[in-house]
Formats: sequence, C-alpha cells, structure tokens
Amino acid sequence: MSDEINQKHKDFLFPSVANYYKEPLVIDRGEGCYLYGKDGKKYLDFFGGILTVSVGHCNPKVTEKINEQTKKLQHTSTLYPTENIVALAEKLAQITPGQLQKSYFTSSGTEAVETAIFMAQNYSGKQEIIALRHGYSGRSFLAMSLTAHAAWRHGGTHFAGIKHAVNPYCYRCPFGLTYPGCDIKCARDIEDLIQTTTCGEIAGFLAEPIQGVGGFITPPKEYFQVAVPIIRKYGGVFICDEVQTGFGRTGQKMFGIEHWEVEPEIMTCAKGMANGVPIGATIATTEVADSFTGLSISTFGGNPVSMAAALATIGTIEEENLAQNSYEVGKYLHDGLLDLQKKYPVIGDVRGMGLMLGVEFVGENKSPDPGLVIRLFEETKKDGLLIGRGGIYGNVVRLAPPMNVTRVEVDEFLSVFDAALGRC
Ligand code: PMP
Repeated sequence: MSDEINQKHKDFLFPSVANYYKEPLVIDRGEGCYLYGKDGKKYLDFFGGILTVSVGHCNPKVTEKINEQTKKLQHTSTLYPTENIVALAEKLAQITPGQLQKSYFTSSGTEAVETAIFMAQNYSGKQEIIALRHGYSGRSFLAMSLTAHAAWRHGGTHFAGIKHAVNPYCYRCPFGLTYPGCDIKCARDIEDLIQTTTCGEIAGFLAEPIQGVGGFITPPKEYFQVAVPIIRKYGGVFICDEVQTGFGRTGQKMFGIEHWEVEPEIMTCAKGMANGVPIGATIATTEVADSFTGLSISTFGGNPVSMAAALATIGTIEEENLAQNSYEVGKYLHDGLLDLQKKYPVIGDVRGMGLMLGVEFVGENKSPDPGLVIRLFEETKKDGLLIGRGGIYGNVVRLAPPMNVTRVEVDEFLSVFDAALGRC
C-alpha cells in the first residue's frame, strides 16, 4: 500500500514536493502526539507537522468545532461578515502584544508575509526592507526574495530593495565575537547596512523571534531591543514573523516577541494557529491597517471553518495553559538534550525556547555534519520517532512536538533519540 502511494506521489506530484526519508513514510492517521503509518507502525511525532499541530493530532475539541462549522456554513468569501471572522480578529487583538488591533486573514504564512510587506511599504511610503540572513518567509516570489537560504531561493532574479542583515547566530557568530562582549554587533550592524546599501529610508524590518527553518537560531535577549529602534530611526516598521513562534510555542508567553519585550507594528501568523487547518493572519496596529483603503480580496481568507479551527485551537491553548506546559515540559526536554550533549560530542549546540528546541550536529572544529542528521533520521524512524530538520547546512534537528506533550512522551523521545544516536 505504502509502495503504491509513494509511486503515485512520484508519478503525479511535482518532484519539488519533497518528502523526508529514503523510503517516504505514508501517514494514515494521527492522535495526540502520535501518527500511524500505512505500514501499521506507531510514530511519536516530535515535529508536529512543522510546528503546526499545536494541540495534538485530531484534537477532539478542535475537530468538534470544525465538524459543527462544516454542517452550518463552509464558505462565504470576505464579501460578507461572519460571526467567526470577527470573533477571531477580536481574539487576536486581545492576545497579541502592544497595539496590534486589526487583522487580515489569508490561507498561509507566505500570504501573511506578502500582506505584511505590502502594508509596511504602503504605510511608510518607502520601499526597502531589511530581512535577516538564515530567515525563511515562504514560497511566493516575494517571500523567496525575503528568504535567505540559497536552497529555498529559486529563480535567480529576485525583488530589488531587500537587504539581508547578518543574523544573531551566537553559535556561529558572523563577526567571530562572543556574547555578551560582542555588544550585540549583529544588531548594531543594521545601521551600517541601512546607511550603505539602502537610500537611507526603509519601509520595515522583517524578522522571526527565533529563526525557524534557519535551525531554531535564538537571539540574545537584547537583540531586538537594539535592532528595532534603528529600524524606526530610518522610518521603518517592525514586522514580527510569528509563523513558527506564535501561540505559546516558546513557553509562558503567547508570542515569541514578548520574551524580547519589543512591540511590532505588524505581526504574521499561520501554522500553529489552527492546528493544521490552512490559515494565515496579518495583524497590524490600527494606524498601519487603516493606511490602506484600496481593495484586496482573499477568497479563502477568513473562511468560517478555518476561523472555527483557530478559535478552538487558541481556546484549547488558553484553557489547558499550554504556553506554561511548553515552558515546563520544554525545560525538561532541554535538560534531557543537554545530558545527551555530554554523552555525544557531535552535539555542538542545544538551543531554543519552550517546545521549539534545536540540536546542531557537528564534526571537528564545529564543521556542520548533515550526513549524521540524515543517518539519525533513518535510525529514529526505525524506532518509531519523527523529528524535523533545518539549518542552512541541514545539520540541525528541530524538535517541536504538540504543546500538550507529556514528560512521559519526552522520556520516550529521549530514550529513542539516545539509542538512535548511539547507532549513528
Ligand atoms: N514564515 C516563516 C517563519 C515560516 O517558517 C514559514 C513556513 N515554514 C512561512 C513564513 C511560510 O509559511 P507557509 O509555508 O504557510 O506559506
């Protein structure tokens, strides 16, 4: 059965729809932190559909709301207001930090970023954007231009006016410095970047509170406090991309940027917001949102089923205090990974926050070891564990289980991960 599906995948999908594993794993169903393959095997899912399954696979609370909604009303387009679209927009205004107040809904992170960049340019009356190296923004032409990973930038020619600042990658400091003696040079360098590579006036700065695809690169706590005032000094707004870090993922706080105590003018969300139902949201201050009164339609944006799924997901995160669980169980996982680091010198760095933890694998002199990660993927799969990959060199294992994961499941993860590493 799996063989047949894998063959059809090759025959009927673009090859760019790439799968993990030498023999791709066909998934049949999911429940909580587990996925079940067509091969009849049970897998502990420590990547959660790329940080999307926030409250567990097929969470009954979310499923029930989706089911109720599909029986009542499935689509209107944005031509009519619905109870769900305003309820979710109001909820986002309440839970997002600072003055973020109004939302524009779409169906993906890529579209959320597109909307945000357009709004920053429109509001500021300026064009140029500062983004970060090792950042990922999506698959549209503009999003690929913002992305700073050669492997995800296709087509050669990209949007002009996007400048990529060096990122706060302490393990491999772009300036060869060490925190805190570095005085956060990576953030201060943004001023030089603006003065030397732009016209001196910018529309905005797009950054992830923790770089996701980049390999869960976690900035020093001062980074955004130094970077964002520089952006504002040159006329730009701060666009915070919470596509991976949002909704409790980083522990205790609902949004990653809250740890860094900086308030964005625009925020983008997707992934974990609706537990896997397609959604994108761009949330802006009233001033930014109201600066654009032209027409812009997203047929599926604000779809009542997506809105119901997001309301149920956020409701579950709140009711079950999952941001706190992310913090506590995340710390337990982090401690377990630090123990493994003592045992395996190939673990160069363990980083991240909450249930967004990265493990960077290296050889001599910190040389990236993507081959080991590929072997580790095959070995963990054999023992029923699914993990994620990232980092510009493909040598970072990304761990992001559903946020209601338990210590028992983390113990299961640690024991399988340890045994698999021992065989690599
Ligand atoms: N921004 C970030 C930070 C992301 O990680 C991603 C997806 N990995 C996107 C934007 C694009 O989201 P999507 O794949 O839903 O278009």
